Amino acid sequence: MKNDKNLKNWLTDFQLDHPLVIAGPCSAETEEQVLKIARELKDSDVSIFRAGIWKPRTRPGGFEGVGAIGLKWLQKAKAETGLLMAVEVANAAHVKLALEHDIDVLWIGARTTVNPFAVQEIADALEGTDKIVLLKNPVNPDLSLWIGGLERLYNANIKKLGVIHRGFSTYEKTKYRNNPEWQIAIDMQNKFPDLPLICDPSHITGKRDMIQEVSQQALDLNYDGLIIETHIDPDNAWSDAAQQVTPSVLKQIFHDLRVRKETDEADDYTMRMNKLRTQIDEFDSKILEILGGRMKIANQIGALKKEKNVAILQNKRWQEILDKMISEGSQKGLSEDFIVQLFKAIHQESIDHQEKIINS
Ligand code: PEP
Ligand code: MN
Repeated sequence: MKNDKNLKNWLTDFQLDHPLVIAGPCSAETEEQVLKIARELKDSDVSIFRAGIWKPRTRPGGFEGVGAIGLKWLQKAKAETGLLMAVEVANAAHVKLALEHDIDVLWIGARTTVNPFAVQEIADALEGTDKIVLLKNPVNPDLSLWIGGLERLYNANIKKLGVIHRGFSTYEKTKYRNNPEWQIAIDMQNKFPDLPLICDPSHITGKRDMIQEVSQQALDLNYDGLIIETHIDPDNAWSDAAQQVTPSVLKQIFHDLRVRKETDEADDYTMRMNKLRTQIDEFDSKILEILGGRMKIANQIGALKKEKNVAILQNKRWQEILDKMISEGSQKGLSEDFIVQLFKAIHQESIDHQEKIINS
């Protein structure tokens, strides 16, 4: 699949002078809840109302969605407010029911995108549709799996396509529920510049007080839209309570967001610079992560030296490391001076770590 200029047509058809906004609860809970939220989102920047009907839960026993009955509530909400309706579909049966109930937008969830069989089944069920289909990134940070899903949909002649960046699972603790790994979404955007890219700050952050910040980051990176979980009573939501905001908080978030014009020369500069800075920030975090890992090994070396009563400083070994790194560094365009300075600092830190262990 190549970039296709027509990919963005469905988005331009909205004729918005701001990014596309999709909002609504994580899950449809009751008819009353759906209607109340939809009414509050009418006459705002929101164009599409979202609600999960079938909920993929990590563990059984949680609320797994109200099922097909919820589609009727969405039809009512649409008739009353004029908002387009979006639901998550995870198999052909979901697609069939969603189409029968005239749902306008179908999104494929992160747990489904990881499974090529499921995405293919959905693509086949949607073959040639004129509905809008949005593909969330897979749970794991794998750009080709995400692109693969997109290709399955594109090959099924689905023309109104977009992708949603909702962050990625990691085993490490971070401040996010799902690590954004902005670089992956930027790579997607560079490969398909005309493919609408939507950020899901709710699932990235998992916390309502971080939604503003991540939404702004997405707009600074020239995303086309945002999908934000919105509930009339977030604390008592049946799923994802911590990350949902009220309709009035959502309106405040939009009021405070700085939306950049695409055409301005200065904006082009800012946008490109932001992309580059995001990449630098990610590299810097990785450097620290690697250094932290290296020092953990140094601690183990310290413990072994203590056990065997061996001296910390092993000059021969240190010279060998330095020579090897100078030669590898020069192949990567890094100067000898820089490598010497860098590795002296790393070596010193490593000695300090070992010193602590030996003297403990
Ligand atoms: C959702 O949007 O409610 C959802 C389940 O999201 P994800 O697939 O990103 O986890
Ligand atoms: Mn959710």
